[in-house]
Amino acid sequence: VITSIEVHLPSPSPRRYRVHIAAGMLDDIPRRVAAMFPARRIWLITDSTVLRLYGRKLHRSLVRAGMDTVVLEIPPGEASKHERVVRAIQTHMLEQGIDRDSVIVALGGGVVGDTAGFVAATLLRGIAYVQVPTTLLAQVDSSVGGKVGINHRLGKNLIGAFHHPAAVYIDTALLSTLPAAEFRNGMAEVIKIAAATDREFFRELERRNRRLTRTAPGMLTHLVARAVRLKAGIVGRDEREQALRKVLNLGHTIGHAVEAASGFGIQHGEAVSIGLVAESRIACAMGMLPPADLARLSRLLRSAGLPVQIPRKLDRKRFASALAVDKKSALGMARFVLLRRLGQCVVGVSVPTPFLAAFTGDEA
Ligand code: ADP
Ligand code: ZN
Repeated sequence: VITSIEVHLPSPSPRRYRVHIAAGMLDDIPRRVAAMFPARRIWLITDSTVLRLYGRKLHRSLVRAGMDTVVLEIPPGEASKHERVVRAIQTHMLEQGIDRDSVIVALGGGVVGDTAGFVAATLLRGIAYVQVPTTLLAQVDSSVGGKVGINHRLGKNLIGAFHHPAAVYIDTALLSTLPAAEFRNGMAEVIKIAAATDREFFRELERRNRRLTRTAPGMLTHLVARAVRLKAGIVGRDEREQALRKVLNLGHTIGHAVEAASGFGIQHGEAVSIGLVAESRIACAMGMLPPADLARLSRLLRSAGLPVQIPRKLDRKRFASALAVDKKSALGMARFVLLRRLGQCVVGVSVPTPFLAAFTGDEA
């Protein structure tokens, strides 16, 4: 059974594409890509780990489906979201004779999706690309929204574009080989979207909690589909970073600061988990959020194996300055997305400095 979710983007130029989700989806991709892009050259971009696990097989079956396919391999890891890697891919593609009809298939986690997507957005002012996200984080987070980009020495994701895929294929069976830490990272974003937008989904996560493992593809398909549908609903109404879309930043104001202050030693998902709890403590202290909801959020994150405390050894100076330069702050005042209750949040809340200090200080 394949779940298909339509992502509808009203602005700036109306667009729609589908996200197809199933355990075993990978086997169906060649047939679908061949039907969507007949007689077009495919550039399969992946990292070396994913190439070994799934890329070779996908390459073979694309060729068997009659597609002229070239494989481009990048090293795994965040360091690949770099100008140098983008340049190398572009040079290779231009030398090999790329044209406007070429199609990029990005097979991998967020790093591959962001880098290959950025190449697709910029080469010849934009060519088609198909996303096949293979980490839980990429499946729930970067498959909808169209953000692609790379890092700059002055910060993460500073060079980028909006470039929507022609289609997204999500195979939840691929998650069975994902390292446990990577799985937890993705769970942080799933819990975030439930807490921010859907109380019933949050309750469902609490109920299924213990059975949510990497090797339960049926349940994962259901979970990923629900998260993607929620995100598509938000992004569809508001493509550029405006009011509604800000709810997706829940936990990220403090989360990004924790991530940056750790020199990115703390993973994004872990930092978001810490941020969700710290920001919810602030919401409680301001009388916005019932303490029982904070306790439930913290319990669910902990049972997913995620940290909920700001580490004692975090560099406080770097943390404070990272909070101040966060792009969501206006006029130096910390602006937050805060929970009102599980499933509902308020955007653009100014948090008085004493609250911020009290809940992100050493006693946090
Ligand atoms: P993220 O989506 O969290 O940004 P990355 O693209 O950095 O993730 O991928 C995290 C790591 O997991 C990389 O080393 C990548 O090669 C590896 N990886 C991606 N997908 C899978 C998978 N399905 N099974 C095993 N390892 C994977
Ligand atoms: Zn995030």
